[in-house]
Amino acid sequence: MPRYSINESRINQTLQELGHLGESPEGMDRVAYSPEDIAGRDYTIKLMQEAGLETRIDAAGNIIGRRAGSDDNLPAIALGSHTDTVPKGGKYDGALGVMGAIEVIRTLEEQGHRTRHPLEVIDFTNEEGTRFHRWLVGSRSMSGLLEQEDLDALDDDGLSLGPCIADIGGDLSRIGEAVRSPGELAAYFELHIEQGPYLHQSGNPIGVVTGITGRAVFEVEIEGKANHAGTTPMSTRRDALVSASKLVLNIQKMAAEQEICRVSTVGSIKAIPNAVNVIPGHASIGLEFRDTDMEALAAAEQELRRITDQAAVDDIVDIDVIRHRFTSAVPITADMQALVAEAAENCGMAWEPLASGAGHDAQAVANIAPVAMIFVPSIDGISHAIEEYSTPQDCANGVQVLLELLLLADDRS
Ligand SMILES: [Zn+2]
Repeated sequence: MPRYSINESRINQTLQELGHLGESPEGMDRVAYSPEDIAGRDYTIKLMQEAGLETRIDAAGNIIGRRAGSDDNLPAIALGSHTDTVPKGGKYDGALGVMGAIEVIRTLEEQGHRTRHPLEVIDFTNEEGTRFHRWLVGSRSMSGLLEQEDLDALDDDGLSLGPCIADIGGDLSRIGEAVRSPGELAAYFELHIEQGPYLHQSGNPIGVVTGITGRAVFEVEIEGKANHAGTTPMSTRRDALVSASKLVLNIQKMAAEQEICRVSTVGSIKAIPNAVNVIPGHASIGLEFRDTDMEALAAAEQELRRITDQAAVDDIVDIDVIRHRFTSAVPITADMQALVAEAAENCGMAWEPLASGAGHDAQAVANIAPVAMIFVPSIDGISHAIEEYSTPQDCANGVQVLLELLLLADDRS
């Protein structure tokens, strides 16, 4: 049995109220720094204050609500996620983690339970990175992972970040002050919808996240020979698009059949000159591999280089493999996973271990604190779309486990 019961109708009511801010017939639009995002943030601040949290906005624009512990010499335990959305996104991605954290605080207030550690609820700014095409801006600012490119980024209209940060109450010129040092937070816990199909398929209400996926992105340029599509015999062609097509199938098989890495995707393809009566002289494909194991990503790269070398020989084309930056996988420690599993069991809920295929604020915060993540089912595995849905029961289950996890961590650390 969990120690205290969260209020299922209250948490779902706040999710729906937040979900009306920026709602349109096509989905949620609370893109970071927009008026709708600011409305969502204002709503969040109001809820935090009603729950008795002392709120502040750091220089990066993160909203931080703090509750004193019985021993304020201890580092804080933080709970959080984000309230920005992608364009035409859903009501649950990010929102559940923030609204759920506030529900946890409300429950503790009602029960008169004072934790040993101070508690923080954090609403990280611009997780999605839609505007400025730089993501996890708030959590990376707090974790000391911000890069010069983040500060210099321009949006699609050529506007800079400074005024946007000011609009949400931050200050770009002081953004270094948002950095928290390792040891300042005892732990960070993030409740999130799975955004994949596994829990929905298995029927387990809780996912214990084992790690956040790493990602390796490549571009492959293929140089053949453009020529007349009517007069060039099939036997003498050097068709770059045909080589690219074989690579697309082989790259798909790397995950689907050979299981070298968890997922492999060719997401873009270009043919030049892209004319129906010309043999494509040039083609390029953009692809990515994802896995929580960086060795699997290295193995995938090795296999990619092997099949492209082979294709160059077989098809008499020149192939250049361009390696973009790798995003490192972030493992979640075994003791943190065990704590989430124990919390789920205390709540009488079945769980399964799951890797996160999407990125989350927790992966940045892992740079400064131990992190854990709880997943709840996404119906049909859909997210970043208007169809994104988790049932009221699923949402409440996740919040219940979040509360129990917090209490376990408070007892033991
Ligand atoms: Zn999210």
